[in-house]
Amino acid sequence: MKWITHLVCAFCFVYIISLFIPISYAGFMLALICSVAPDYLEIVLRIKHRGVYLHNWMIPILTILLIVNPTLAGFPLGYGHHLALDSITKNGVYIGSKKKIRGHLYALNPVHNAAIILLHCVALMFFLAS
Ligand SMILES: [Zn+2]
Repeated sequence: MKWITHLVCAFCFVYIISLFIPISYAGFMLALICSVAPDYLEIVLRIKHRGVYLHNWMIPILTILLIVNPTLAGFPLGYGHHLALDSITKNGVYIGSKKKIRGHLYALNPVHNAAIILLHCVALMFFLAS
């Protein structure tokens, strides 16, 4: 997905989550940064965020942070949401060492990106209205 799709969708997602669990403003900002960070870290650090090892180690560690702190919770929420969006694209992401989850969307297709943003905005409106 494009960076703007990750950012807008993470905003909607974290806002909805914040209705149920306490997330500080700093945590909210951290989530937004972490929603776009994996793609940039991949370029800077030359590691693949869709690869096998990073996911398998990062997800348990990040989930522990989620339980501990309302600010650090932004990290797994943003990063996790990024991976969730990447998992519905053709390239997919690894779950475990061999299984890869793939979707049918093209990451750079503007129509696919717009549809995902629309879906998240509708979900946010649904939660705000209820
Ligand atoms: Zn990505």
